[in-house]
Amino acid sequence: MTRIDNLIANTIREDVRAGHHYVVPDSSGYIKLDAMENPYQLPDALRAELAQRLADAVLNRYPVPSYAGIKERIRAKLGVPAGFDVILGNGSDEIISILCTACARQSPNDKGGRAVVLAPTPAFVMFQRSAQFAGMDFVGVPLKADFSLDRAAMLAAIAKHKPALVFLAYPNNPTGNLYDEADMVAIIEALGEHGIAVVDEAYQPFARTSFMDKLPQYPNLVVMRTLSKLGLAGIRLGYLAAAPVLLEQFDKVRPPYNVNVLTQVAAEFALDHVDVLDEQAARLNEAREILAAAMAALPGVTVFPSSANFITLRVPDAEKTCAKLFAERVLIKNLSRMHELLANCIRVTVSTPEENSVFLNALKASLQA
Ligand SMILES: *Cc1c(COP(=O)(O)O)cnc(C)c1O
Repeated sequence: MTRIDNLIANTIREDVRAGHHYVVPDSSGYIKLDAMENPYQLPDALRAELAQRLADAVLNRYPVPSYAGIKERIRAKLGVPAGFDVILGNGSDEIISILCTACARQSPNDKGGRAVVLAPTPAFVMFQRSAQFAGMDFVGVPLKADFSLDRAAMLAAIAKHKPALVFLAYPNNPTGNLYDEADMVAIIEALGEHGIAVVDEAYQPFARTSFMDKLPQYPNLVVMRTLSKLGLAGIRLGYLAAAPVLLEQFDKVRPPYNVNVLTQVAAEFALDHVDVLDEQAARLNEAREILAAAMAALPGVTVFPSSANFITLRVPDAEKTCAKLFAERVLIKNLSRMHELLANCIRVTVSTPEENSVFLNALKASLQA
């Protein structure tokens, strides 16, 4: 062992040394259908106007950490109920991490052990990773084979593990479906004053349904969203809507300048033109239905219902299909090894009609012997 190896062994946590980083493949030269990005940019006239705003941004000063301009626009335009507020994150990834950091009590209920994060699985991987990094235990409760919530199993796991946080992605990633509303409400009610239900609405611009208006009914409900899937993945802005008294606690662990000045300017501008982004989302929803119908007509392919900007499907041989797509320079996500419910499943982001048809042709080719 070299001195640097010893240093690492003496300082870095065992679970970090044993783990691996979040893998993002190099996508240059590929059609990128693996990360739920919006393929459309803002129209040229708006980009020119944004360029001017960015040129005027005050880069020599720290951001003003109240972020009043963005928050005001989010509250006004994105359906936050009166009396509720938001905090911002460097992507909703950071919000997940803030939630875990704030709730990672050691020896909760004086019973020893660690605080628990619970989520139906397969789920967005950051729920588990953030729980681990915060020193919490993660409990995954398998969905049913049709990817609906197993209400009885969820309620039993909540009674057993008493989670501090339950993450429910609505629609879920990587499956694409919306959970049954009554199942979600049963979970929120079962948590009561012992656990916080985090409804992750990353795909709300496509699903067009939300738990936001239920905030006043359930004090333990918080709603998390992001501008990423709406078309601004590059600026990294997520937000969490909740009762101000709860947000006050989360705000204590938020790094004070977590949203940078360029993001602040771009987000305010984008929210002033959110109708343009909503129109792009509507176009992608139409393209999703066309693509889903075309894939469902292919022999051996099962298409799962999606309310997001991606489609999850089962093919006869995911390995073969992904290799063919890769050879045709199309990047998608092979979900096969993520969870046993996802055997031979792949996930494709809905894109422009042109990119969707390149994908569809390569998919067809992969299904031939
Ligand atoms: C993409 C995604 C996020 C992360 O969004 P960022 O704001 O880009 O960090 C959160 N939750 C789910 C379910 C997602 O699919």
